[in-house]
Amino acid sequence: MTAKLIEGAPIAAAIKERVRGQVAGLPVPPRLVSILASGDAGARFYARSQRKACDEVGIGFDLRELGPEASADELRQAVQALNADESVSSIFLLVPVADGVDARQIQLCIAPDKDVEGMHPANIGRLFYGDFSLAPCTPRAAITMLQEAGVALEGKETVVVGHSEIVGKPTVVMLLKSLMHAPTVTCCHIATRDLASHTSRADVLIVAAGKAGLITGDMVKDGCVVIDVGINAVTVRQGGKKKRRTVGDVDFDSVSAKAALITPVPGGVGAVTSALLLQNVAECARRQQAAR
Ligand code: NAD
Repeated sequence: MTAKLIEGAPIAAAIKERVRGQVAGLPVPPRLVSILASGDAGARFYARSQRKACDEVGIGFDLRELGPEASADELRQAVQALNADESVSSIFLLVPVADGVDARQIQLCIAPDKDVEGMHPANIGRLFYGDFSLAPCTPRAAITMLQEAGVALEGKETVVVGHSEIVGKPTVVMLLKSLMHAPTVTCCHIATRDLASHTSRADVLIVAAGKAGLITGDMVKDGCVVIDVGINAVTVRQGGKKKRRTVGDVDFDSVSAKAALITPVPGGVGAVTSALLLQNVAECARRQQAAR
């Protein structure tokens, strides 16, 4: 079998189109503020792509630069000022931050209704009750891609590889949303013994481990559906030259020879995740404006 691709671009485009309509219908346009507190080139690049994506759908964007030495207190104060500012719909903390500052503790200071990443305990708690209105973007992207590809999950053996707070765990909770129509979910992680014994049973396999090539063709079953969340920069040799490439956690060539459906990297989950961040900005703005 050679897998059909579940491409991110058309799904992301449809989400952006919907968000553009939601934004146009709001009394006040939403505004996302990202906080940069490092000299990290990747974080700055990500901020630029956030600005571009916001522009596309009519969301305002500001970058609040605090400098690479910003302390935990300075970051907390910046977040509290943005929490209190009615013109700010959503707050995003770009990582990394200075050594010794716990980014998670700063993120916890973001008001739940401005928590664009959906990681505040109040929003994570909502997931447990099946309310995905402000869900973490990457798990939601993985599930949206399954839905868009028409994959019925009911009763399916579904294996999630990775149990991080931002991807693996919320994915498990979101998969279990429906009381009657949920898949059977197994969550594998770094301490899982014999990973292949789990992945080879999966009708649906979602991989978010951050390990290039972790899942190979001999670890999956024929006709499975594979969502590759991983983003890894690797160096490959091409025509005698070294080249940097972005790959997923799944060895695409060997797994796509057996799977029925697979997401590519790049061009898969990442594109949908970015579009869902915009959807969360619109949702934050809707909540705040409804509460005024
Ligand atoms: P993380 O490092 O926080 O967590 C990795 C998880 O993988 C852990 O739960 C760990 O137990 C598990 N793991 C690691 N090695 C394993 C192994 N050998 N066998 C089984 N499990 C193993 O990473 P994260 O933030 O959850 O991100 C995971 C990957 O997803 C990364 O590549 C990251 O870049 C990518 N990511 C992509 C998007 C996107 O939009 N596509 C968004 C967020 C993260």
